[in-house]
Amino acid sequence: MSILLGCIADDFTGATDLASMLVHAGMRTVQTIGIPTAPLPAGTDAVVIALKSRTIAADQAVAQSLAALHWLRDAGCRQVYFKYCSTFDSTDQGNIGPVAEALMSALGTPFTIACPAFPENKRTIFKGHLFVGDTLLAESSMRNHPLTPMHDSNLQRVLQAQTAGKVGLIEHSTVAAGPQAIVERMDSLQAEGVGIAIVDAISNNDLLHIGAACSGLPLVTAGSGIALGLPQNFRAQGLLDTKDAALDLPPTLGLRAIVCGSCSQATQAQLADAMARGIPAYAVDPLRLAANEDQVADAMAWASPLLPQGPVIVYATASSDRVKAAQEQLGVERAGALVEEALAEIARQLVQAGVRQLIVAGGETSGAVVTALQVRSLRIGPTIDPGVPWTVSLGATPIALALKSGNFGATDFFTKAWSALP
Ligand code: ADP
Repeated sequence: MSILLGCIADDFTGATDLASMLVHAGMRTVQTIGIPTAPLPAGTDAVVIALKSRTIAADQAVAQSLAALHWLRDAGCRQVYFKYCSTFDSTDQGNIGPVAEALMSALGTPFTIACPAFPENKRTIFKGHLFVGDTLLAESSMRNHPLTPMHDSNLQRVLQAQTAGKVGLIEHSTVAAGPQAIVERMDSLQAEGVGIAIVDAISNNDLLHIGAACSGLPLVTAGSGIALGLPQNFRAQGLLDTKDAALDLPPTLGLRAIVCGSCSQATQAQLADAMARGIPAYAVDPLRLAANEDQVADAMAWASPLLPQGPVIVYATASSDRVKAAQEQLGVERAGALVEEALAEIARQLVQAGVRQLIVAGGETSGAVVTALQVRSLRIGPTIDPGVPWTVSLGATPIALALKSGNFGATDFFTKAWSALP
């Protein structure tokens, strides 16, 4: 059977978030880093193509998204999902509007929705206004975002500034009335010449109603929340039989390691907790790397005899004072790059030494490790903590990877994660 749902995500962690939601709702999901270069495994229900298109120039974001769409159509996807951030991260130039309109035009569809709401994560939309927790978007910390500062909470206005077509609104009273009412409103908005409709949503129930109402749309644009309701549409059509897609991970037997490049408070607490529980740990230090010390060889010599006994940790994590001191001496970029390079090479050599279950802490660090391991696609498995699933790389040597963005995960993450592996 061909792939049912084809998703294009505008960044990597957003792609993982969406993929996790789909797995949770019963779709066997593969996430690819960029456009897939090899066929996906048989039985894949959904694919999430992770781009890095959130803040690049609009014309490049459009070109990359259209190339991804091309692949998805060739793979036979029945519905396309354009995933962006739940805080609608964009500028007046895009990229949400231009990409959505380009996808509509390529798919030959005159209408779609836009709904970044994710009530469980405190992102709600009412009367077209996006709330982050109890505050309006433009009054939240998003107003100070370095790349996509959000100065208007009215999503209809925000999107209208980025689109050529007309932007409308499906209000909460309609959403609460159920899928049929939403479909009727979609039809009447289309008749009024609206191309994209912002949709209110303040609860999971609203997301389920909206998901059901999207059954006939060739294109959905949303945060990850709408993914809650879409798999049920395929199930109702007899196209999806899986219930527990998370258990469908290929097995990975081998040694275990943790590579830790995040300096966030959450990661510092997780590292301290793991060390207090007796997991051996080796520290990588940017100043020693800058002095040409071969910490990669040193770390591997340290790790090799320990690995057969249980997980080991290699970390660069340091207090903010120590990070600042290293950055003052080396420059922010060089300090970061030295650490990322060393940790990525250590991860590669750990895998060479037989590690098949690997936790990586840090968004940038994860990117560097995945590149060093030449991982191009991941099957998404069970969630360890919100936003962090186990994944298994596809390819000749499957490796279980938990890629943890800095602030995610409970304090005992590094010890409890192993028991979430199927
Ligand atoms: P997070 O997800 O917490 O933001 P990232 O991996 O994205 O984590 O970013 C952490 C950055 O800090 C990386 O570039 C990493 O190389 C760098 N880094 C880690 N440890 C140190 C350190 N001791 N000194 C300076 N920079 C460091």
